[in-house]
Parts: sequence; structure tokens; C-alpha cells
Amino acid sequence: MNLSKRDIKHNWHPYTQHKTASPVVAITQGEGALLWDENGKEYLDAIASWWVNPYGHSNKFIADAIYKQLTSLEHVLFGGFTHEPAVVLSEKLMEILPSNQKKIFYSDNGSTAVEVAIKVALQFHYNKGIAKTKIIALEDAFHGDTFGAMAASGISFYTQAFQGSLLEVVRVPIPTEGNEQKALQVLHELLATREYAAFIFEPLVLGAAGMVMYSPEVLDKMIALCKDYSVFTIADEVMTGFGKTGKTFATDYLVNKPDMMCLSKALTGGTIPMAITTFTQEIYDGFYDDDVNKALFHGHTFTANPTGCAAAIASLELLQTKEMQLNIERVNLSHLDFENKIKNHPKVKATRVLGVIFALEINTSSQESYYGNLRNKLYNFFIENGVILRPVGNIVYVLPPYVMTNSQLQKVYQTIENALEIV
Ligand SMILES: *Cc1c(COP(=O)(O)O)cnc(C)c1O
Repeated sequence: MNLSKRDIKHNWHPYTQHKTASPVVAITQGEGALLWDENGKEYLDAIASWWVNPYGHSNKFIADAIYKQLTSLEHVLFGGFTHEPAVVLSEKLMEILPSNQKKIFYSDNGSTAVEVAIKVALQFHYNKGIAKTKIIALEDAFHGDTFGAMAASGISFYTQAFQGSLLEVVRVPIPTEGNEQKALQVLHELLATREYAAFIFEPLVLGAAGMVMYSPEVLDKMIALCKDYSVFTIADEVMTGFGKTGKTFATDYLVNKPDMMCLSKALTGGTIPMAITTFTQEIYDGFYDDDVNKALFHGHTFTANPTGCAAAIASLELLQTKEMQLNIERVNLSHLDFENKIKNHPKVKATRVLGVIFALEINTSSQESYYGNLRNKLYNFFIENGVILRPVGNIVYVLPPYVMTNSQLQKVYQTIENALEIV
């Protein structure tokens, strides 16, 4: 029996209604931007396998670093111990993070990175004897699937079954073009109540919402407002980090820097699950005390796993090569060309590009749901044509590995153009 048939006997897949979903595809090999299934069919991975893989599949440089680490020290607990990969990775990250970021806390995935940030924001105030238990987030945000991260998320598909069991989160409109004043006003009113511990946001691009974009200028103003009211700002760069927006971090476009940052996805080049949350000195100092109760009692068994750290160090080295920086520019220019070509297509409502991210909204008369019929039709069309794209509602987006070649990019664009004919 083939793998995809054997799979459904025991495996429960994420975000999947198994009764109605199309069969899963069993992938047996990957190289660069390409994947092959068990029947030898080729796919272009145009979303970098959920945004984790900028340097290409089966990257030899990262694989060698992992192998070397596995055969010297695969893992050691991080409570009371440390190791070279964690020390070196933190030093390297400090060189590229905004200069106000001074401390790094390791965890396992984007959700835990957000969870840590939210807990730190709440406990910082608790340690000072102040009860601030609410946070502010953007409408349609996505911050992960664990309870704290889910509470901050605003896409109902992910959260509706759990309303009532969640941390209190109040929402601000996404400050997209034309909505800046409204967003600033709502944020200002919330801050003035002085009830909030933190404002969490996906800087410049809301990924899961469909690559919804807004300007650095308005985010700078929002952060400045939060600073006026001493409300911590948390930049969730789990998706945007490590070059996706054309700069190393989306916050590199800002004048005002956030108090905390969450990073994961591309951190290890799509090899080993790992995440970090970074903090200012002020936040760290809010936990630094003779009283053990003021410590951050949070930790994961695999915290700062040496193999993950080695993969991250190798990934950072790749990101910083001239070649990879040129790849990011090349993909960006290619997206801009395609945007110019497609934006006046009668079925295209809107397009947007930032860094290696391209998104296109399809004109529809109906209100398209996140996992609705149009989305499924498009998804199946792309898979049939050997291109991995996961539209959200009526939005098709491309976020390729930086190493995707020009001709591969052209095939992705052509397939999107062809898809417009079937909707
Ligand atoms: C994917 C994502 C997360 C969650 O990361 P996981 O590794 O899936 O837990 C959090 N925030 C943002 C912005 C993301 O894109």
C-alpha cells in the first residue's frame, strides 16, 4: 500500500476536516525549492513549507552542521547548564537584533515564543504588585494555537470553540491604508484605560490573515503611543523574521523598537523546531530579585537544544551571505514584475508585495470563508499542477524559498494566472 493510504489509518493532520479533505500527498524527497511525491511527481514549494524554509530543502550546509553537532553533543538540559551552540547563537542574534534587545529565552515553536512573551508581560506587572491581565492585539491576527497565543489570535476558525476559556484580549483594527487614523484612535482609547499589559502584533504583514500589509510609519506611531502609556510592545516576527520582508526583521523598518520579539519558523532554516523570545534589559530586570518567586517559571524540556542551535547558527550564516541577500532582492523584483503584469486583470481585486512576499486578492461576488469552496478549488488546482500554494479565502499568496530560481518563479506565476481562468 502506498504511503498516503497508510497515512490515513493513524495520522490526524493539522487544520484538516478529514471527512471532506482531499487525500494527503506523501513527499519522499526535497531539494532546493522542489519536492517529489511517492509517485515521482514534482512540486514547487511556493510557500516554503509554511514559511520555514528560505534556503531550500535538504540544504547540505545546515545538514552538515546538524550532523556535526549530533555527534558531539546532541542535547543537554538548559536548566543549570549551557553549551557553546546556545552561547554562540545568542551572540550572533545580538549582532542583528534591534539594539534594545538584550536577553534571549529559548523555546520550541512560534506558539511557545508568543506564550512566553505574554506570560512575561503579565508577570512583569505581577512582580511589581500590579494586576494587569489584559492584552491588546490586532483584528485577524494569528499568533499560534496554544491557549495564550490562541487568545491573541483573531481568526475565528482557530479560536471559536474556545471562547470563554481564553485570556482577555481586546482588538484594534489592522492599520491598512486608509484605516490608520481609526486604528490609532482605538489603540489610544484602550491605552488610556491603563488596564493593558501589552500590545502584540505581526509587524507590517499579517501572514495567516492573507498577507495583509500595513506601513512602518503607522506602526511606529502605535509603538510610540504604547511607550507613552508604558504598555509593552511584542513584535511577533515568527513569520516575518530572517529576511522575508526584504530586511532581516520587519522591525528593521521601524524607528521605534518593540520591547519583545518572537522568532521561530525560518530560525533553523526549516530543519529543527526551535523558537526564541527576546527582551529588553528593563523586562529582564523586572524578574531579577532575591525573591525566587519573581523568577520566570517557564521552561520546555528541549529548551535551547544544541542541535537546533547549531542549525540556527548555520542558517544565519547562509542568510548573511551576499548570494542569499541577492536572492532576496531577485525574488522581490520578480514579484514586482508579476504584480505589474497581473494587477489589471479583471479577476484581480488587489495585489501587494513586500520582500519575498506576494499576495493577490481574487474578485468574488460572494463572501469567501477562510477554508471555503473557492479556496479548496484553487488549492486542488495548484496541487494538480505541481505547485504548493495554500490560498486563504480569496487570497493567493507566494512566499517561496529565497533560492527559488527565476524559471521556477515564472512557473508559479503562470499557474496562478491559469487558476484565474477557472474561478
Ligand atoms: C506560524 C506563526 C505562529 C505559530 O507558530 P507555530 O510554530 O506554528 O506554533 C505564531 N505567530 C505567527 C506570526 C506565525 O506566523
